[in-house]
Amino acid sequence: MKIYKAAIIGLGPSGLAVNKILYGDSSYEIIAFENGDVKNRDNFFGFWLTDWMRSFENIIEKKWYKWNIGDKNTNVTHSVSNKPYCVISFKNWKRYCLETKNKLEIKNKKVVQYLPLKNYFKIITADNKEYYAEKIYDSRSVKEKKGELIQHFFGINITVADNTFDEKKLTLMYFTEENNVLHFIYVLPFSHNKALVESTVFSKETFHSSWYREKINRYLKLKNIIEYEENATERGIIPMFFSEEKKSPYSNIFNIGIRGGACKPSTGYAFSFLIKQIQLLKNSKKNYVNIHKFLERKMDKIFINFLKNNTEKGQSFIKLASNLNGDEFQSFMMGESNLLTKLKIIKSMPKLQFLKEVFK
Ligand SMILES: Cc1cc2nc3c(=O)[nH]c(=O)nc-3n(C[C@H](O)[C@H](O)[C@H](O)COP(=O)(O)OP(=O)(O)OC[C@H]3O[C@@H](n4cnc5c(N)ncnc54)[C@H](O)[C@@H]3O)c2cc1C
Repeated sequence: MKIYKAAIIGLGPSGLAVNKILYGDSSYEIIAFENGDVKNRDNFFGFWLTDWMRSFENIIEKKWYKWNIGDKNTNVTHSVSNKPYCVISFKNWKRYCLETKNKLEIKNKKVVQYLPLKNYFKIITADNKEYYAEKIYDSRSVKEKKGELIQHFFGINITVADNTFDEKKLTLMYFTEENNVLHFIYVLPFSHNKALVESTVFSKETFHSSWYREKINRYLKLKNIIEYEENATERGIIPMFFSEEKKSPYSNIFNIGIRGGACKPSTGYAFSFLIKQIQLLKNSKKNYVNIHKFLERKMDKIFINFLKNNTEKGQSFIKLASNLNGDEFQSFMMGESNLLTKLKIIKSMPKLQFLKEVFK
């Protein structure tokens, strides 16, 4: 009976990070289970360049030092000098995380259960096969929950006529007025004629892809972009509720990624946080690390409840952006804001509704 050093359940960004960051320089035998189609998965992960992400600078595909937040009436432009907005594609992250010294065996199988035996675990897959490992890194997560908000989106990668986009500035949020949902367009201009244009919604249920496509086309028309070639699409759901599993009573079971609480639910940003989580686990003797500080979590909770109970068309986000400069805004998004910035954020929120959420 072979006992692997560790088993990774799910080869999304967090499972891959475990292979690279925790075991990449070792000669251990690791087993990974993935029941999805990660071979064909590709999408872009955005984040601001915090200190813990600097070691991945050479796999960053593009950096922007300026971004816009607004709607048809208002436009706020932020700029930063040393913490730009960056993207890494899933394909690049996967390639980087699989270039390691350790021996990784990948099984395209669904894990249905694992149980503790003496000082290791038995893992059972859907085809009733059994595997054994000393440690388990589990990234399976719940993305939707009845009655809870989710961030759902659909985007297209397009090629357009030359010199259409300002490739130095991204559109982080362009809010449009829709019935009963918060909607914005996100544009990553990779070059003067190539971009990812995404329609994002905060609501309790997802829509058919035609809904997002219609919003994207409307936005492109507004920008006088009528003709384009579609190269790829991406879509996703990110929980806007605290979806993490309780920490395991077994010290050798690690909940990672969104399952381990890496997602900042008010924004849906998770990629750089799940990397931070794995980096922190590397230097910890515990099986759980706090990625988001207590106060940040509290503010997130209040903000999400506010979004759930109020019809918001983006005004709070625009007001918040206009009250902060680029450095303050990115520090807030990356969970690194100081007290003064936090006070500015609180000041930007609609007072009455916000106080109601605080005392709920
Ligand atoms: C399209 C998209 C774009 C995003 N963009 C950004 C962004 O710009 N910035 C940002 O910070 N965050 C972004 N996110 C949010 C977040 O970073 C991602 O959701 C990220 O993929 C979370 O990584 P994870 O490893 O926690 O989970 P996942 O990526 O969900 O990985 C879990 C893996 O486990 C597999 N699995 C599940 N159950 C089993 C099982 N029983 N057996 C075996 N395998 C199983 C799944 O197939 C999956 O591959 C985005 C998410 C999506 C979907």
